[in-house]
Amino acid sequence: MIVASIAEPAPDRVLARMDEAKRAGADVAEVRADFLERPELGEILARKTLPAIVTARASWEGGRWRGNEDDRIALLRTAALGGADYVDVEFKAYKDFERGKAALIVSYHDFEKTPEKLESIAQKMAALDPAAIKIACLARGAADLARLVELQKNLPRPGAVVAMGEAGEALRVMYARYGGMMTYASIGEATAPGQLPVGELVQAYRVKSVDDGTKVYAVVGDPVAHSRGPRVFNRVFHELGINARYVRVRLDDGALFRDVAAALELSGASVTVPHKEAVAARLDEADEAAKAIGAVNTVTVLEGRFIGTNTDAPAAAEAIREAAKRKWSHGVYGMRALVLGAGGAARAIAWALRAEGARVIVANRTFDRAKALAEELRGEYVAWDRLIEARAQVVVNATSVGLGTDESPFPRELWKKDAVALDCVYVPRATRFLREAREAGAETADGVEMYLRQANLQLQQWIGRGMPTELLKEFRATL
Ligand code: NAP
Repeated sequence: MIVASIAEPAPDRVLARMDEAKRAGADVAEVRADFLERPELGEILARKTLPAIVTARASWEGGRWRGNEDDRIALLRTAALGGADYVDVEFKAYKDFERGKAALIVSYHDFEKTPEKLESIAQKMAALDPAAIKIACLARGAADLARLVELQKNLPRPGAVVAMGEAGEALRVMYARYGGMMTYASIGEATAPGQLPVGELVQAYRVKSVDDGTKVYAVVGDPVAHSRGPRVFNRVFHELGINARYVRVRLDDGALFRDVAAALELSGASVTVPHKEAVAARLDEADEAAKAIGAVNTVTVLEGRFIGTNTDAPAAAEAIREAAKRKWSHGVYGMRALVLGAGGAARAIAWALRAEGARVIVANRTFDRAKALAEELRGEYVAWDRLIEARAQVVVNATSVGLGTDESPFPRELWKKDAVALDCVYVPRATRFLREAREAGAETADGVEMYLRQANLQLQQWIGRGMPTELLKEFRATL
C-alpha cells in the first residue's frame, strides 16, 4: 500500500492534503503530529478520509517533536484510542500502552547511514509483536541499497524497509516485489530524502499492480536522474501488457553491479555513464560486437547468467547513416568521421563507424585514451585542441559535455555546411553542439533518436520484440 506522509502545521491543511493524497491514489495517510503547531488530533481523526497512521517523530530520530517524551507517548495513546488506524512508535522509545483498535507499527530510522546489525534490530523489533515494522535508513550508495533490499526480503514481520536518498529509489518503487507491505510517498513537502510523489508511483510506475512475479529492469549508472528510461520502458511494458517495471539505480561503483543486480533480481539492465566498461568486464557472456568494443550498454540475465551486448553501436550507426543519406544520398563509407570522446559511447560508435567503412579519427580530453582507442581501431587521432586537423565530414559528440549545460565540445567556427553531426547527449535535446551544427547548415541526428533506437534494440533482447510503431512515433515527438 502507498502511505502518503503528511507534514502540515494545522488540521485543516492535513485534511486537505489527505484528500489530495486520496485522489492521487494513496491508500493510507501518515499524519506527522510533530509538524503540527498544536498537537491536537481530534479533528483530524474525526474527519479523516483515509486510514491514518499517527506518529509524532522524536527529534532524536529525525523528527520535529521538541516537547517532552511523556507528552509524546500520551499523544500517541490518545490518538490510538481516538480513532487512529495505526500508531507508529520508535523502537528505541517503545513503551506498551493501551491502543484500542489501533495497530502498532514499531519503527527505526537512521538519516545518516545504513548501520550494521540491522537484521538483529529487526528481530528485536519483531519480538515486540507489532502489526508491522518499519526500518528506514539512508542508503549512501548501491551497496546500502542491496543490503536494504535483502533485509526487506527477509524481514521477520510484515513491514517496510525504506532506503532513503536517491540511491534507494528502486526499493521505494518495487517494495511489493521484495515482500514490502507499504511504501512511503510524498504529497506536498517530502518528509524524507528520496521520497517520490504519490502520483508518480501510481501513474508512472503503476506500483499497485506490482507483485512478486513482476520482472525488474533498471538503468544503472551515475548519474541516472535524467534518464528517460522509466518513462519509455514502463509505458511500453504497459501497452504490451507485460508485468515488468523499469527503475533507476544510481550505481556509485561499477564493481558492485552484480551484487546489486542479484539483490534486485534484475532480468535486464541498461548500463550507462560511467560503467559500460566496468560492467563489460563482469559478465558471463558477451557477443562479438560487445567484446570488440569492450563496452556494454545492455545486460540480459538468463537463468542467472549475465549476457552483454551493445546496442549503442548499431543505434548510432543507423542514426548517422540516415542523416548522411539525407545530406549526401549515401552512407558514410570512406568519409572522415571524428569521434569526440573515448568512453563507453565513443568506443561503440567508433567501432560501428569503422564497420560502416568510415575513416575514424578520435579526439578526447584525456589524450592517451584517444590514442589507445585509435590504435585499437587502426584509425587516427588528433589532439583535443587541434580538432581542425581532423578535416571531419561526420562529427559525433560522445562526451558528456552538454549534458544539462549549454556547452559544446566542438568549436563553432569548425562546422561546415557539408557535414553530418550526431550528439549522444539527449538532455537537453537541442544541445549547443547540434544548434551550432544546424546554424552552419550541417545535417544532424539528435541524442533522442539514438536513445530510442538503442532502447528498441534493448527491448528486443529482453522481451523478443520491439516498441509498437505508434509509440515510437509518439516518443520521437514528445521526449
Ligand atoms: P563515459 O564512458 O563516462 O565517457 C565520458 C567521456 O566524456 C570521456 O571521453 C570523457 O573524457 C569525456 N568528458 C567528460 N567530461 C568532459 C569535459 N568536461 N570535457 C571534455 N570531455 C569530457 O560516458 P559514455 O557512456 O561514453 O557517455 C557519454 C555521453 O553519451 C553521455 O552524455 C551519455 O548520456 C551519452 N549517451 C547517450 C546515448 C543515447 O542513446 N543517446 C547512449 C550512450 C551514451 P575523459 O576520458 O577525458 O574523462
